[in-house]
Amino acid sequence: SQIIRAERVEKYYAQPSENRIQVISPTDLSIQEGEIVALLGPSGSGKSTLMRMLTGLSVPSAGEVFWHDKPIATAADVNVSIVFQSFALFPWLTVLENVEAPLKARGMEASERRRRSQKMLETVGLDGFQAAYPKELSGGMRQRVGFARALVVEPEVLFMDEPFSALDVLTAENLRSELLELWQGKTIPTKAIFIVTHNIEEAVLLADRIIVLGRNPGHVRTDFRVSLAHP
Ligand code: ADP
Ligand code: ADP
Repeated sequence: SQIIRAERVEKYYAQPSENRIQVISPTDLSIQEGEIVALLGPSGSGKSTLMRMLTGLSVPSAGEVFWHDKPIATAADVNVSIVFQSFALFPWLTVLENVEAPLKARGMEASERRRRSQKMLETVGLDGFQAAYPKELSGGMRQRVGFARALVVEPEVLFMDEPFSALDVLTAENLRSELLELWQGKTIPTKAIFIVTHNIEEAVLLADRIIVLGRNPGHVRTDFRVSLAHP
């Protein structure tokens, strides 16, 4: 079933000269339960902008985003988490405290919060690192914390904005295949994954469906013809 639907969403920025900068041209898309969708495109093609509108973090200039057929007004209307390229961890908090933070913000009681965070840290392979600080960890480990913190709230859709781009190739490969394994084993508490990437290999490896932005900035490309090598 459908979770998110975007109808004719657009983003443009006004210029002093009154010429608009069109960042996203009118776009329709949807995200269904059970799928991994990749949004693929070169740097500057509008991927983050489109993603932010789907999550309610940014308001479309025109068009509308629906979750379960209800138009969303703000990020407070939806249950999402975002994993960022730069990890965006709190440096003054331990690994456990970082993962607990979103639960604390939601007012969850301390022992329950701790229990869930511990369990999520085990899932992402960070058991034993609870008391460490982010600066003591490698990039790959930091992004594991990022995943745990995103998933601990059991987001309806997990959004990821270039989550592997800051990691070296081998670390990125490992983390990517672990993520896929967890998803396929239904160990990840989310209904759909939306990943923003400029890496075509990553999109092909992870996604059930790929949406491509490119050539003309802000335009979803639907003019591809795809042939199956192994029908
Ligand atoms: P991507 O994620 O694909 O790299 P972005 O969505 O970050 O692309 O940006 C798309 C384009 O929109 C870029 O050219 C960027 O500079 C421009 N842009 C994004 N936000 C703004 C803004 N607030 N004002 C003006 N231009 C913006
Ligand atoms: P909203 O649509 O809710 O205003 P935006 O996506 O426009 O949110 O981002 C908020 C602010 O961040 C913008 O008002 C803009 O000033 C700034 N910004 C974000 N990305 C860019 C960019 N690539 N270039 C210029 N400004 C940007």
